[in-house]
Amino acid sequence: MTGQPAAEMGVETKQTIQQKILIVEDEKDIRDLVRYNLETAGFAVLEASDGEVSLHLATAERPALVILDLMLPGLSGLEVCRMLRSQDPTASVPILILTARASEVDKVLGLEMGADDYVTKPFSPRELVARVKAVLRRAYGPAVNQPRQIYARGRLQIDYDMYEVRLDGKPLELGLREFELLKFFVQSPNRVFSRTQILDLVWGQNVYVEPRTVDVHIRRLRKRIEQDDADPSLILTVRGVGYKFNPEALDA
Ligand code: CA
Repeated sequence: MTGQPAAEMGVETKQTIQQKILIVEDEKDIRDLVRYNLETAGFAVLEASDGEVSLHLATAERPALVILDLMLPGLSGLEVCRMLRSQDPTASVPILILTARASEVDKVLGLEMGADDYVTKPFSPRELVARVKAVLRRAYGPAVNQPRQIYARGRLQIDYDMYEVRLDGKPLELGLREFELLKFFVQSPNRVFSRTQILDLVWGQNVYVEPRTVDVHIRRLRKRIEQDDADPSLILTVRGVGYKFNPEALDA
């Protein structure tokens, strides 16, 4: 924790400037998945669905790292990689290749293309985020890519890196899943999520558990954070749909 009082930290403070990651991928589902996971890890995300846009964004926005799909309409990923490497502002930007073709890996990592790392499709988002962090660490040193994030609003403070939660100024012990759930809700306020969406986004897409597992964990979380868990004001049930987080109740 910083030792700063919550009032000085504002509603939500990121202690370091977020690093921008550019994802170049024509499939929207994959872009969305990557964006969600990178944002959850504390990065800012730029998106391009084709090579031309990606070259423009890479030059204009100077991202800290480019995630580049090889199979793109128009300019191929290989051409984009070569062009990024050949022009000055982007010549040294770390590039992480997404590819479904293991046969191209030697080529993209070789001297000709000079990509920094690769992930083969299908990939686990967690693995991808870990590789992004590793490439950033190699490129910029250890401190830069660890944006320490603190959430502070009203009764609640969360230090995402330290897994510390304080409610009304007192430390709150939460199970890991409850912590992840709380973090998820806090980062997506006022949006309604179905049980299935929550499972996908908090548990991960390759985990096979029943949707009512979500209810069990929400009940546990409510017991810890609600002033009256029989009449919750923070995690609201939206009948027939799912749940949403109401941050206004933290100010009470
Ligand atoms: Ca593609």
